[in-house]
Amino acid sequence: MSDLLPVEDAVARILEHFQPLPVETINLLDSLGHVLAFDILADIDSPPFPNSSMDGYAVIAQDTQGADQQQPARLRVVMDIPAGSMPTDAIGAGEAARIMTGAPLPDGANAVIPVEQTDQGWRSGENPPLPDYVNIYRTVDPGDSTRPRGEDFMVGDVVLPALTPIRPQEMGVLAALGYSGVPVICQPRVGVILSTGDELVEVDEPLTPGKIRDVNGYTLYGLVKAYGGQAVRLPIVRDNLEDARLRFREALEYQPDIILSSAGVSVGTFDVVRTVLEEMGEINFWRVNLRPGKPVAFGHVGGVPFFGLPGNPVSAMVTFDVFVRPALLKLTSQPDAVQTVNAVLGEDLQSDGRRSYLRVNLRRDGNTLIATTTGTQSSGALTSMVKADGLIIIPEGVQYASAGEIFSVRLLRPV
Ligand code: AMP
Ligand code: MG
Repeated sequence: MSDLLPVEDAVARILEHFQPLPVETINLLDSLGHVLAFDILADIDSPPFPNSSMDGYAVIAQDTQGADQQQPARLRVVMDIPAGSMPTDAIGAGEAARIMTGAPLPDGANAVIPVEQTDQGWRSGENPPLPDYVNIYRTVDPGDSTRPRGEDFMVGDVVLPALTPIRPQEMGVLAALGYSGVPVICQPRVGVILSTGDELVEVDEPLTPGKIRDVNGYTLYGLVKAYGGQAVRLPIVRDNLEDARLRFREALEYQPDIILSSAGVSVGTFDVVRTVLEEMGEINFWRVNLRPGKPVAFGHVGGVPFFGLPGNPVSAMVTFDVFVRPALLKLTSQPDAVQTVNAVLGEDLQSDGRRSYLRVNLRRDGNTLIATTTGTQSSGALTSMVKADGLIIIPEGVQYASAGEIFSVRLLRPV
């Protein structure tokens, strides 16, 4: 076992080759999933003026003291303030202004009474004439149904700190601040190369005897996107040197930050991909203390960092998670935070002394989570990744794990 490279050492060696990417400005509509490059400061107060949170009447709260259904407060209506307009005047004692949601409060007013609590029911689809008086059926307190200036944020506030991942709510805040273009860290570009012993066919090709459809092209594409990268899936490499060279050259033309390949790097198998790698770069084939995951290759091709992942679909996903994901996240300065929980093993397990990632389901029992394997742990059985709630991590050195022992589980979905 001593010739196996510990997982952490392999990850540390890999990360030495990655530095955060530069900054670019992109369209706000394209910014979802990108990482903000700089602190975003407010240059306005939001809302920029005190305004009404209801359709109703702006009033001076004191004028409604003691008002109720039997004894309404009767106020003179002096103004109409539709949304998007500015009040033309202030209101004084005994006065009210009809006001729409979002419209600025007039000077003098300190509260709004919703229209439903007056004698002026709202008639939809028309602009009712302004009444001379409004009867108010409730006592309102100062501040009721109003939003103060700067309630959301004020000039100078750091509204979004640098390195925030942009979700829909961040897009909205950027819009409120006028950012039609958003400064972001460039997304990592990843070329995905699929090698084959000629068994792979494209997803839309007929499945002839001896063939299987390419799976890794899609799981790896999805994983790259899930961690904030852009992927290009290149056509399947056919089992000849010329085709393999062509695909690697195509990948380099895309000017990727990473080239990923799946399969074709196993020790002892003749593989055209391996030959081309030796021609075009420097690659180390590592035997990492990890299961599933055959030797993982890491190095450079045409100056671009290269990962050679195993061909088995589960192994490809697990080795992506362990080795490629931290590199992708470092490129956009994101923390490499994985969601793990502790779970009690619900069955006895045998391991082989390598750090093992086994697919498990999690079941809650009081305050504890019980982990049981999803059935076959074959690294070709990708539906085990579909069924699993997480990957239980059996540490290196463990040969037998007994029911009742506690291990860490890397979550694949929320529990
Ligand atoms: P290899 O790493 O070439 O020895 O491949 C290991 C296993 O993974 C074999 O059963 C391959 O058929 C399978 N495999 C390789 N590439 C893919 C792929 N792109 N999609 C699905 N299975 C694959
Ligand atoms: Mg193969």
